[in-house]
Amino acid sequence: MQNKLHFINHRWQASASGATLDVLDPSDGEVFATLARGNAPDVDAAVHAARACFDGPWQAIDAAARGRLLMALSRRVGECTDELAALEQRDCGKPIKQARADAVALARYFEFYAGACDKLHGQTIPYQNGYSVLTWREPHGVTGHVVPWNYPMQIFGRSVGGALAAGNVCVVKPAEDACLSLLRVAELMAEVGFPPGSINLVTGYGHEAGDALVRHPGIDHISFTGSPRVGTLVQQLAAERHCPVTLELGGKSPQVVFDDADLDAAIAVIVNAIVQNSGQTCSAGSRLLVQRGVYPQLLQRLGAAFEALRAGPAADDLDLGPLIRASQLQRVQSMLGQAQADGITTAAQGQVVAHAPASGFYQAPVLLRDVPVQHRLAQEEVFGPVLVAMPFDTEDDAVQMANATAFGLVAGVWTENGARQFRLAKRLRCGQVFVNNYGAGGGVELPFGGVGASGHGREKGFEALLGFTQLKTVAIRHN
Ligand code: NAD
Repeated sequence: MQNKLHFINHRWQASASGATLDVLDPSDGEVFATLARGNAPDVDAAVHAARACFDGPWQAIDAAARGRLLMALSRRVGECTDELAALEQRDCGKPIKQARADAVALARYFEFYAGACDKLHGQTIPYQNGYSVLTWREPHGVTGHVVPWNYPMQIFGRSVGGALAAGNVCVVKPAEDACLSLLRVAELMAEVGFPPGSINLVTGYGHEAGDALVRHPGIDHISFTGSPRVGTLVQQLAAERHCPVTLELGGKSPQVVFDDADLDAAIAVIVNAIVQNSGQTCSAGSRLLVQRGVYPQLLQRLGAAFEALRAGPAADDLDLGPLIRASQLQRVQSMLGQAQADGITTAAQGQVVAHAPASGFYQAPVLLRDVPVQHRLAQEEVFGPVLVAMPFDTEDDAVQMANATAFGLVAGVWTENGARQFRLAKRLRCGQVFVNNYGAGGGVELPFGGVGASGHGREKGFEALLGFTQLKTVAIRHN
């Protein structure tokens, strides 16, 4: 049994209270590790370490040197891909190909932000004679990062990578279900030369360690990725002390398929967009809007694809692993139960392999058809492998239905009509639109974030760096 501690000021530290919490393997439901259960005193120690670093050794590391540190980290993460993937597989129940993809993306985030450090600069502004006016992009200082369990490495990479590149230091509260890979990454950061206090991880529950982090007056900026419910709480608390917040919340993202779409190209992508990570993806393509002419054919072909899908233990590296925990499985099953009670038709379903332990958290992928636009299954995030399909008639109907949820994270459009591609891209209310693809391979360069209940602010890409800085205008009178 491994007993994991907080990582504060480059030292492993138990919680001030001595409390711990259990870590379960989602593939069999067994406890295999414990974590320190952090609370306000542990967060306070981490924030003080971060502040001392920011005011001290961090100031001696200029932008190019920060870039070299991040590049060294990228290389070290790359060397540890197998180790990190194995940790993630056990901790999160990810099939090994997904866990490896996450570790590769983590290295790529650090590589991207390494190159960006010394390219982030202000401007000079033409002003009245006798003045020189310039702008500086300054770091916030000590940034707080609340990370969810579905893609710990990728979300840590984009959030912490961007914050460090912009000159901040970090205190991170990983999700209680998914800490192990990130604790190892923090150790790698110390190894490649990040100074003590520049990266601190406090593990524990959201309502304890997470709440303490969000309330802490020493946190100058908060990046929160998680549910809309907690995102609202975080924003309310941050507002009380005027702390800037970036919120990356959920989605109910549509894939819109027109009659003229290349179905051969679309089908595998549509399946992957809901099956990847067992549907526990904020940007999952969870609503399928299909023009009526092609609806029967597409559903029949998708049905065949769903029936061939297999869920099973992460080590088997099948199409889907288990869900993260029992409560997540219960949530998905209760939503499916409601669909059944409301008379919604199951068009197709995959299988859980027979040898999957009964104590694991498995859900076979499900395709539901003719789901009414306003039904709960078409409005709320399931956060499981459940795709809801519905037909539409005209382009205007498609736009209206696609925009008919509180969310607005991502959308996919499938059509060969070039003018329609642009019209849809303009009219869909969301942060990213993909035409004849979905996700574009994840691209760390591509700014990501939502509108409405999906949150605000952007992560990923160069754009994220702007959010991790504040702008100072300097006007110098010289005559
Ligand atoms: P969650 O909101 O319950 O937890 C997210 C994080 O917040 C965890 O670290 C948790 O410990 C912490 N937390 C919980 N309560 C808190 C509180 N009161 N104060 C401070 N922190 C608290 O969400 P989850 O179940 O971990 O993740 C699933 C949700 O996250 C889904 O809705 C999903 O769409 C969303 N998500 C969004 C993105 C994105 O980039 N938009 C990415 C991943 C997940």
